[in-house]
Amino acid sequence: MPIAEIISVGTELLFGEIVDSNAAFLARELGARGVTLHRKTVVGDNLDRLRAAIELALGRADLLLLGGGLGPTDDDLTREAIAAALNETPQEDEAQLTHLRGLFEARGRAMPDTNRKQAWLIPSAEALANPVGTAPGWFVRTTWNGQPKLIAALPGPPREMRRMWAEQVLPRLPLPSAALEHVTLHTHGIGESLIAERLGHLTRQANPSVATYARLTGVDVRVAASAPTPDEARAQLTPVLSEVRDLLREWTWGANDQTLAGTVQAALAGRTLGVIEAGSAGVLCTLLAEQPGFLDAAVTQDHRRLITLGLTPVTLQEGGLVSEAGARELAAGAREHLGADLGLAVVVSTQGEQAGRAHVALSDGARVAVAGVNWPGDPAQLRERAAVAALALAAR
Ligand code: ATP
Ligand code: MG
Repeated sequence: MPIAEIISVGTELLFGEIVDSNAAFLARELGARGVTLHRKTVVGDNLDRLRAAIELALGRADLLLLGGGLGPTDDDLTREAIAAALNETPQEDEAQLTHLRGLFEARGRAMPDTNRKQAWLIPSAEALANPVGTAPGWFVRTTWNGQPKLIAALPGPPREMRRMWAEQVLPRLPLPSAALEHVTLHTHGIGESLIAERLGHLTRQANPSVATYARLTGVDVRVAASAPTPDEARAQLTPVLSEVRDLLREWTWGANDQTLAGTVQAALAGRTLGVIEAGSAGVLCTLLAEQPGFLDAAVTQDHRRLITLGLTPVTLQEGGLVSEAGARELAAGAREHLGADLGLAVVVSTQGEQAGRAHVALSDGARVAVAGVNWPGDPAQLRERAAVAALALAAR
């Protein structure tokens, strides 16, 4: 069983300006593949300290994953530190240099000289192709005190790191032969602790494992099984997954890479959707922008204009705009006045007595579905939550 360590490189990580999501991702990936992770280290952009961290880790682990510091500037020092630790000298690699120049030429630019160091290699390193950025990674096979060691150095931007991990690093790792099957269910309208309660013992077992992650769109539930072969892993996953699905059916809107807006579009099944947003500043429209069924929208807080869109003066006087009645009337108004098959409305209050409250409603002409959101505090978060709640209504 290989033992791994992760070193995340960057002063901005050290000082907390950005959160080290890369190490969290890699830790989950390693765990899922039976690799034991013993330590995560964060080091600033400092050659001596990075080198020392690498040397220390090589003395303890079989596999060392480094993230960040592969850019072209003087404070990108990962290549230098690995070379120093291994007592090797970096040299420009012709093939890498040609590739880099090509990337710049394709954008109609000449490659600055500072980028040349991204074409460096040391004798024990192999370049890892970066399909989404300039910085290639390094895969190093070496020995340390007579023991074989592997080092993978990946760029910091998560999009690049994740792809290169999957496409370049994983195939090169001598992993225990285990297949991992997993499905992530997306829920909305139920909190993490309530999910844990409903799932009971399922969340406490190791394989298949059931884990929850809170996201803006609701709580994700990841069900994973590992076994020697994909077939066995699937066979273990299936019953647990269907149990989880059954327990959370009411709140589940999708799985894996499905998006909430995509699910809404599927639920529209060719019908059109009109939207009225009062107080949510167009956040809902932004989420729906790419969806073909999304017909038209009105984004306004002006009471007179909202009255022309279906809000009644009675509602304004009695419950106020930000009320269940207000959302209902505007959902019906969105159908009628925007000429859509379905009307979706969101009313949000970020100020005054009602601050932190929002209501959403969906009308198909025959029926209206409603939901409320209560999120005192940050207005931007309230708007996003309200928009997501509106989408969740339309997704079912
Ligand atoms: P670049 O070529 O973009 O400079 P790099 O390999 O030098 O890549 P860094 O400069 O360390 O990487 O980081 C670039 C950006 O990637 C950071 O500003 C940050 O947004 C993101 N990033 C870096 N490390 C992490 C991390 N551990 N977790 C999350 N994001 C990260
Ligand atoms: Mg950088």
